[in-house]
Amino acid sequence: MTVAVLWFRKSLRLHDNGALTWACSSDEVDSILPIFIFDEEELRGEGGGLGFNRLNFISQSLRDLDNRLSDNLGLRLRIFSGNYLEVLGNIRQHLEGEKICLAYEYCSEPRLRNSEVTLEDWSRISDDFRTKSFPARHTLLDIEEVVGSKEFKKPKSMKDMEIIFRRHLDVNSLGFYDVGDPLPVPNSSKSMNTVNLSGSVMEISDLESSIMRIYPGREDDVQYFTGGETEALERLREKVTDRVQFVNDFRKPKTVSTNSKDDPREPSTTGLSPYLSSGCLSARMLWRECEKSYLTGSHTKPPESLHGQMMFREMFYLLSRTVENWDSDVGNESCIEVEWDEFDREKITAWETGNTGYPYIDAMMRQLDKTGWMHHLGRHAVSCFLTRGQLWQNWTHGRDVFERKLLDSDWALNNGNWLWLAGVAPFSMPYYRIYNPCPDSKSSLNVETVNADFIRYWVPELRSFPSKYIFEPHLAPASVQRTSNCIIGEDYPLPIVDRKLSRKENLIRFKSSIQT
Ligand SMILES: Cc1cc2nc3c(=O)[nH]c(=O)nc-3n(C[C@H](O)[C@H](O)[C@H](O)COP(=O)(O)OP(=O)(O)OC[C@H]3O[C@@H](n4cnc5c(N)ncnc54)[C@H](O)[C@@H]3O)c2cc1C
Repeated sequence: MTVAVLWFRKSLRLHDNGALTWACSSDEVDSILPIFIFDEEELRGEGGGLGFNRLNFISQSLRDLDNRLSDNLGLRLRIFSGNYLEVLGNIRQHLEGEKICLAYEYCSEPRLRNSEVTLEDWSRISDDFRTKSFPARHTLLDIEEVVGSKEFKKPKSMKDMEIIFRRHLDVNSLGFYDVGDPLPVPNSSKSMNTVNLSGSVMEISDLESSIMRIYPGREDDVQYFTGGETEALERLREKVTDRVQFVNDFRKPKTVSTNSKDDPREPSTTGLSPYLSSGCLSARMLWRECEKSYLTGSHTKPPESLHGQMMFREMFYLLSRTVENWDSDVGNESCIEVEWDEFDREKITAWETGNTGYPYIDAMMRQLDKTGWMHHLGRHAVSCFLTRGQLWQNWTHGRDVFERKLLDSDWALNNGNWLWLAGVAPFSMPYYRIYNPCPDSKSSLNVETVNADFIRYWVPELRSFPSKYIFEPHLAPASVQRTSNCIIGEDYPLPIVDRKLSRKENLIRFKSSIQT
């Protein structure tokens, strides 16, 4: 008897899941035990661990995964919390006398990779326990294969990525990189392993209650993005499959940062990142859906196209796998060391809570807090503002806030993009390109300025302000502030810093950092 203990890590889905497909089809396997393990750190709560939206999103994704496993395969997901070795040790004890195969997808993130090495050693102590790892289907490229190849050079641009794609993928008869087909949802007659793990298993309802205990007062918050593979496939259909022209015309730098005209919460881009990052949606599936649109006529190309965005994603996975100290501002070859100011709690808190006195920045940060998402150009603006633009704070502080709050938070991508925006990386934009936090209609941040509904929605103190002053409300005459029911300095903060002065000083400081 072999029990396949199927460890869901970065692919919370049934489609395109290598480990699941193997467990369902292998003759060696008699029964399956699907598991998910929460790291204790992740459930620590405010100031550490995962933020409210993110935890909720994962919990919804796990509920959906459990339902789908049950409906499609007659299996149930078992959820645990704690140190993974202790959890696995416990399962192993309960399954004593059975042959166990722990099946999981290989991850390129160092923290997860170390756990895999430990696991390989751990499995050697008994013949009854072995591990079987599968190439990560979280990415389009096989990251281990690419970084292990003789010709591998760390990519710095889309041109470098095109070279890597050409080297490692065939170009199919349609002229596209052949990333392979996503695996279908498997069929299986394998039974669920019924071992009694009582006491250590966490019911999804327990998880939901502990999220409410960690974040009291947020029980009435309605989440905009719902987690899970079901929702991911629905969004893929609505935003990509059914919108051929949108996909073919997609130019990322032209997309609007203040969201959809009809709903200030709905992304103007696909909004699929939360699903890709949690693995509710396979990257290969999205790639193929774009390809179907491209076949219908002329279409945009990388770096601006949707395929281009996905290639940036691959670039950061490759870099994060090969650059030591990727997440640090010290000893990281992708990071110039800059003498940032000491951690300034007041400034960071104003930035994080959306109280800087700059409505565009504040609207973006409040949207992040409420929904766990922000448009790419909004991310550009707030990260530039925190670092080389206005507040001169270390990028790692902003990175930490994003890591906790973003639904799509991803170690490789979050660090890579912060390095990019802080101006410290070889792939960064020129340091002197600083965004104006009070954008006008011509800004490259692509802001809707006529009605300014995005600002009115996320910064309700300014709801009645005339659009003319809404991006820089402290400049409005006192009479306008009075008739708009918002006195700046009382009802909404004065600017935390002088934007022009801080810009000028920071440019000088940055220049001297790169000269020393
Ligand atoms: C400071 C900063 C931090 C960021 N942190 C993250 C993060 O933790 N996780 C994350 O997924 N993205 C991150 N991004 C990249 C980008 O902002 C989001 O991927 C994008 O906004 C998600 O929205 P979308 O799904 O509608 O994107 P679309 O434009 O529809 O793109 C489709 C997919 O391509 C990928 N993609 C798009 N842009 C990028 C990019 N610049 N780098 C890497 N992949 C990209 C994403 O997986 C995205 O879902 C960050 C950007 C900045 C500037």
